[in-house]
Amino acid sequence: MSFLRISFFCLLVFCSACAGSQPLEIVDKPIIFDDERRALSLEYMKAHYGIEADEPTIDPTMVVVHWTAIPTFEGSFNAFYNTKLPSSRTTIKDGGTLNVSVPYLIDRDGTIYQLMPDTVFARHVIGLNHTAIGIENVGDGKQHPLTEAQYEANKKLIRYLADQYAIDYVIGHHEYEQFKNHSLWLEKDPNYLTEKDDPGNAFMERLRTDLQDLNLKPMPDSSSQTDIRQGIQGQVIWLEGNLMPSIREEGDPSPATQAKGVQRTVYIYELTSREEAVYEDGFFSEIQENLVKQLETDPQGYFSIPLDTGQYSLLVKEEKGLYANLFDGAGNIQPVSVYPDSVSRIEIKVDYKAVY
Ligand SMILES: [Zn+2]
Repeated sequence: MSFLRISFFCLLVFCSACAGSQPLEIVDKPIIFDDERRALSLEYMKAHYGIEADEPTIDPTMVVVHWTAIPTFEGSFNAFYNTKLPSSRTTIKDGGTLNVSVPYLIDRDGTIYQLMPDTVFARHVIGLNHTAIGIENVGDGKQHPLTEAQYEANKKLIRYLADQYAIDYVIGHHEYEQFKNHSLWLEKDPNYLTEKDDPGNAFMERLRTDLQDLNLKPMPDSSSQTDIRQGIQGQVIWLEGNLMPSIREEGDPSPATQAKGVQRTVYIYELTSREEAVYEDGFFSEIQENLVKQLETDPQGYFSIPLDTGQYSLLVKEEKGLYANLFDGAGNIQPVSVYPDSVSRIEIKVDYKAVY
């Protein structure tokens, strides 16, 4: 047993040593990056992220892995080559005319091609393009599943990138929506989202397991959504039953009360007073102020969302309408203020089925 352990250990060391000494082969194959693409990139950064920059560059903290859903290298390369989005991309054309692209395209035999510099802005993942280096793989999830050679090339390339940049996350394109409440998420339009399934959980779990030594951060969940610098964090709590204080004798059954975190959609409006909404049967509708953001809590009701400084009203979506039960002296609905560089906390009680 101990002999087996020792030889296994030596094998690992040997392999990681030889992997480290092998230079990574990258073939240059540039797509068009002309003045127009530069201008459209700057336009996208401003419109979608509010970033006003002189140059379309990114600050990489993340690698996003894709498949192209196109079976050939030529077809895949051509999809990124031109400056403008082809008219066939109807699902994302509302997001702007800048064509999609990535710095790396990996062919089915594992050859790595570089299409543009790592730190130049590329459109490939909603919400995160300002910080994500994209790797596309020729293939799909059906007739052309990603090959073992591609897997090895992704692994080597990500190690090479993590060597140069402070990469915290390695994610699959299908996982990008998990960052919707994360401080890295900058997309301004809450409805600009598309369904993605590339490259799938099996590929990403294997990759992250093999890259454990890079000390990547875990995917965001309730426990890791705490790293926002400015905004609101909280929990939605569901209360029901008899919450009236009462004196109970020993042995009396405890009152039928329930208080637990619940998954809900929370709407964040600009500060709204009671007069600026319709209130009927305990629920609000027809809010006259602007909707700033809308978020999904996690299954325990926790949420964490970066916001500009200002005053907001938070309402929870229930079947019958929007719910809130806290008001300030001026009649503002569930008001929360966000101050510079600080995080405001709120517990939102949904208690219309509780008796006090
Ligand atoms: Zn993708």
